[in-house]
Amino acid sequence: MRRNGSVVVMKFGLLGIVFVLLSLLVSHLQSEEGMFPVSDIYALNLMEKGLEISPTDIYNPDGICLVDGICRVNGCTGSFVSPEGLIITNHHCAYRAIQNASTADNDLLANGFSAPDRAAGIPSAGYGVRITESYGDVAAKVLSVVKAEMTFTERTKAIERRRKELEKQAEAANPAIRAEVAEMFAGKTYVLFEYTFIRDVRLVFAPPSSVGNFGGDVDNWEWPRHTGDFSFMRAYVAADGSSAEYSPDNVPYQPKKHIKVDPRGVAANDFVFLLGYPGRTARHKTAAFLAYEEGVRLPFIVDLYQWQIALMEEMGLEDRAVALKHSSRMRSLANVEKRSRGQLKGLKRAQITAGRAAQEAQLQAFIESDPQRSQNYGNVLQEIAQGYADVGNTADYELTISNLNNASRALYFAWLIYDAAMERQKPDLERESAYMERNVARTMQRLKLAAKDWHPETDQAMLQGMIERLSGVTFPADAVVDKATLLADLNALSDDVIAAKWNDPDFIDALLKKSPAELSNSDDPFIQVMAKLHPEYSRLRELGKQRSGKMDKLYGSLIEVKQDFLKTQFVPDANGTLRMTFGRVEGYSPEDAVIKTPITTLSGVIDKTTGVTPFQTPQRIVDLYGAKDFGPFALPGKEDLAVAILYSTDTTGGNSGSPILNAKGNLVGVNFDRAFEATINDFAWNQSYSRSIGVDIRYALWITGKVFGAEHLLREMGVSSQ
Ligand code: ASP
Repeated sequence: MRRNGSVVVMKFGLLGIVFVLLSLLVSHLQSEEGMFPVSDIYALNLMEKGLEISPTDIYNPDGICLVDGICRVNGCTGSFVSPEGLIITNHHCAYRAIQNASTADNDLLANGFSAPDRAAGIPSAGYGVRITESYGDVAAKVLSVVKAEMTFTERTKAIERRRKELEKQAEAANPAIRAEVAEMFAGKTYVLFEYTFIRDVRLVFAPPSSVGNFGGDVDNWEWPRHTGDFSFMRAYVAADGSSAEYSPDNVPYQPKKHIKVDPRGVAANDFVFLLGYPGRTARHKTAAFLAYEEGVRLPFIVDLYQWQIALMEEMGLEDRAVALKHSSRMRSLANVEKRSRGQLKGLKRAQITAGRAAQEAQLQAFIESDPQRSQNYGNVLQEIAQGYADVGNTADYELTISNLNNASRALYFAWLIYDAAMERQKPDLERESAYMERNVARTMQRLKLAAKDWHPETDQAMLQGMIERLSGVTFPADAVVDKATLLADLNALSDDVIAAKWNDPDFIDALLKKSPAELSNSDDPFIQVMAKLHPEYSRLRELGKQRSGKMDKLYGSLIEVKQDFLKTQFVPDANGTLRMTFGRVEGYSPEDAVIKTPITTLSGVIDKTTGVTPFQTPQRIVDLYGAKDFGPFALPGKEDLAVAILYSTDTTGGNSGSPILNAKGNLVGVNFDRAFEATINDFAWNQSYSRSIGVDIRYALWITGKVFGAEHLLREMGVSSQ
């Protein structure tokens, strides 16, 4: 990492002590909990806990460090494992690229892919790789635009605008970087991150899904696990080293640092740490939020997604080409559906909402013990609770209508096109971020990639299902669409789905050039319905801004008073920015009399193999297993191979693909999941059940080199399967 001239890299520790983790109101910070901003790690006494390198080898704002070898790969994490831009990440992170390159006749999802040489790498449209270069506090600059007299909506908009302005300014000052202002504590702290952003990313190696997704949804979020969830990609830049769109003339990116792979793997009890880009957690939210999640949103998602997954599955049963179109979407819905069930179970079982309410009662007593405090903060918790109650009142309607234009892809395409046209009318800084000049090309690329997978028959069934759901929902009085009219429009539209032209990129391109007025006059039935429905989506967007303006302000106050109450170190919720977490390779006991050990083996893969998806195993693996041919990767003293590992780090979505690093900072595995009980991590972490799951590097190397013969990749990483 470098120190950027204009941006002073700050230590979160200074601000960190200002804030207190809500869930720890009355307890102490457990050593293993925390997705720490990397500038916080010096205070963690990591060497006492097992780290055998200096924390400055991990993060050093003034020199080369491990952080320079970590990247964000779309919503996942990856590590550079060679000086030539080779990235290891998860199979499920490269899934969209693998799917996109697959056809029924050349089915890379089913068969896997291995590029024999550099030229054969497959360009992965829609992929981008970011490397954090620097970050610095911009809270004062962001919050300077907030005025006391502002309405909540004005407040949100002013902060949004200011964040965009700072991002544009940073990019203008240094055109080689991408900038992003991240909110660390709602309404309180903002940090400007600067990234190198690489746009030419290619698929290099992916095992077949029978390895990369072994166990499928049955085993997802479960331990014991036997999935080889890894893949290799490569980052490319223009010959002068600058970031460029795909070109055959581009050259491999040379990272400042690459992570050394340790083919000896790990053993139980080893110290490990992860670097990565965890997506979202809600550890600082109140009991009222958890009650909303438990009572309203999570059950809604489980019910909606179960229906959508079953529908897509059925549509693809007879036709692999259709199944391929649905595969990424189905997989991500199934992932969220099962996670949501895990969270529901965890919220109930661990009494997390009640526990948090009890902590809040203590905080409230503290507030009321002082008249001045009481005057400043006395109503904060209650107002937050009221906010969630208000959301809950119209949630059924809002969740259904907002999922309408996602479930029906045709409506989603129409919405995006119409929304883009409306936003284009505004000055750049006033636009929703997706449509700003710096982002719009990528947004449109996403639209076209999604359109490529459009399947009319599935979409018609989705629309009909959503119409049924909407008809059972009460529309709020302030909705600007009339229920009967909308349902009639949607019913008529459902007859138009099969003949629609969303598969045709020229049709989409033509629509993308039109103004809102031209779109309203267009004869496309989807655009016509969207022209009527869009004002309602705009109303909901404004409502969202009003609510977050209010909540951010309230949460800002809550944090202030908690600081006063708790006076302890505290870590911001995950927000897609670079973090470090540490723990040990260790098992756990999920229920009475059950003990789970932390390393699975190839014997377990063979035991689970039934020959029926998702428990198929390539014959070559079975044969090599029979011959006990594990090369140098065998488990010490055993005729077996480690496959997956379990460890007590603090992770969430976005940590997918994170390197599992040993005490010396070498890569011993790739994180890809959590145990079922640990789905609750997003709300609360607990040493007794929060466990992350990764693929053991020995398995990844064996599969790549021994099984699929990509020995050149092993050589590139400085290892060999012989
Ligand atoms: N498998 C998970 C995901 O992709 C990773 C995690 O959330 O821990 O969401």
